[in-house]
Amino acid sequence: MRSADIRRTFLDYFTERGHTPVPSSPLIPDDPTLLLTIAGMNQFKSHFLGESTPPAPRLTSVQKCVRTNDIANVGRTTRHATFFEMLGNFSFGDYFKADAIAYAWEVLTRHYQLDPDRLWITVFTDDDEAVDLWRRIGVPDSRIQRLGMADNYWSTGVPGPSGPSSELCYDRGPAFGVEGGPAVDDERYVELWNLVFMQHRRGEGGVKRDFPILGDLPSRNIDTGLGLDRLAAILQDVETVCQTDLLAPTLALVQELAGRPYPGRDGSPESVSFQVVTEHARTTAFLIADGVLPGNEGRGYVLRRIMRRAVRHARALGIEEPVLGAVTGSVIANLGAAWPELVTQRGLIEAVTAHEEEAFGGTLRQGGRLLDAAIGRARETNSGRLSGETAFELHDTYGFPIDLTVEAAQAAGLDVDRDRYATLLDEQRRRARDGGRDLGTAARHRTQTYRDLLTRHGRTDFVGYTDLHAET
Ligand code: ATP
Ligand code: MG
Ligand code: MG
Ligand code: MG
Repeated sequence: MRSADIRRTFLDYFTERGHTPVPSSPLIPDDPTLLLTIAGMNQFKSHFLGESTPPAPRLTSVQKCVRTNDIANVGRTTRHATFFEMLGNFSFGDYFKADAIAYAWEVLTRHYQLDPDRLWITVFTDDDEAVDLWRRIGVPDSRIQRLGMADNYWSTGVPGPSGPSSELCYDRGPAFGVEGGPAVDDERYVELWNLVFMQHRRGEGGVKRDFPILGDLPSRNIDTGLGLDRLAAILQDVETVCQTDLLAPTLALVQELAGRPYPGRDGSPESVSFQVVTEHARTTAFLIADGVLPGNEGRGYVLRRIMRRAVRHARALGIEEPVLGAVTGSVIANLGAAWPELVTQRGLIEAVTAHEEEAFGGTLRQGGRLLDAAIGRARETNSGRLSGETAFELHDTYGFPIDLTVEAAQAAGLDVDRDRYATLLDEQRRRARDGGRDLGTAARHRTQTYRDLLTRHGRTDFVGYTDLHAET
C-alpha cells in the first residue's frame, strides 16, 4: 500500500466514525514552551486542558512532526526519522479507552490487514482496565506486556496534559532481533501506534519520568499517534523508513550521486550515511517550507545541524558537489502532492539550501582535517577525549555544530569535553554582547541574505533566529 493510500485509509476510517479531519499544524508550534511540533496533539493542547473548545469532540489528522531527540538514531535504527508523519484520532471528553482500543485494532487488522498474531500490546504498569479490554478483543496474555513511565506514560516533556498509554507493536521477525516482545527488543517489535489515555495534568520540573502529576484534566480524552513511516515500511515490506515510498526516490538519487548502491542495513558507517543524507533532506525541505531558516539558536540551529550533518555524510559518501539542492528537490517532487507547501516554497528551499551549503562547504574540508588531526592526537596520547578547545574551534571557525564533532569523535571511540566547550561558547557570547553585538562582516552579510531571501519569497513569518548576536 502506497503512503497516499495509507493516509487516505486512516482519514476515511475515522471520518466514517464521526471524526472531523483537520489539517496538520505547521512545524513551528503555536506554543512558546515547545521548539518544534513533535506530535499530533500539540495543536490541541489547550482543548485537553479545558482552556478552549475543540471544533468537534472527535478529530483526526495527519501531522508533520520533527523530533531532534532522534537525530542520532537516524540510520542506526530501522524506525527513527527526524521528520515523520503522525496519523492521529482524538476524542475530547467523548469516547475513551474501550473505543480507542477497538478502533486501533480494527483499522490495523482489517483495513491495513496486519496479521493479528504479529501484534503485541504494551500497557502502563497498573492499567488492568486496558489489559482487560485487549483480552476481550482476543489478544492472548502472552502478547500483552506492562511497561513503566518511560515507555507507557505520555507527556510532551513540558507542563501540560499527560496520561498512561497503550501501544501496538508489530513483530518484524527474527531478522530484526531477538524474541521476547517489545519489552525486550524494540527493533524487532517495532512500536507503531501509541494510544494515550489523556487524563492528567503534569507540572513543572524534574526528569520527564518523575515529574509531578498535579491532578485530573476536566475530561477524559483520547490522543493517538500512528507513525506513517513505520506502517509504510511494514506494508511495503522494506527494512527501513528510508526505503518506503516516502523516501525511496531520494535514496535512489543519493545512490546515483554517490555512484554506488546503498549497502542495506548492515550497520556500516556507509549505510548510516546513505540514510542520513536521505532522511535529513526531507526534514530540511519541510522546515524551510514552514519558515525556519538556518541560525545559531533554537529551531534555526536545529535546521542548521540537520543540513550540515547531511552535507558531512554526503562528503563521506564521496559526493563532492553541492547536494542539498538536489536531494530536497527530490523530496519536493515526491511529496509535493501530499504537502503542497513544499511546492509553494520551492524557491525558498532552493535558495536557502544553496546558500547554507556554500557557507559550510567552504570550511568543511579544513575543519575535517583539523578534526582528524585532533582525533589522531587524542588517540596517541590515550586521553580518550577531544578537548573543549578543539570542539569550540570547529564550531567557531569552521561552522561544525557540536553534534557533528561528537559523532565523529564517537566513531573513533572518543568522547568530547562538552563542559569546557560550553564554557568557551558562553564566554564568546558574553564578549559578543559586551562588544555591542558585533556580528562580524560575514555573519552580518549572511543574516541579511536570509532575510532578503524570505522577503523575496513572500514569507513574513520569519522565526529562524531568536538570537542574532550568536549568528556566525
Ligand atoms: P520510540 O519509542 O520508537 O522512539 P516513541 O514512543 O518516542 O517511539 P511516541 O511519542 O509514542 O513515539 O509517538 C507516537 C508514534 O509516532 C510512535 O508509535 C511511532 O509510530 C511514531 N514515531 C515516533 N517517533 C518517531 C520517529 N523518530 N520516526 C518515525 N516515527 C516515529
Ligand atoms: Mg522516541
Ligand atoms: Mg516508545
Ligand atoms: Mg510511544
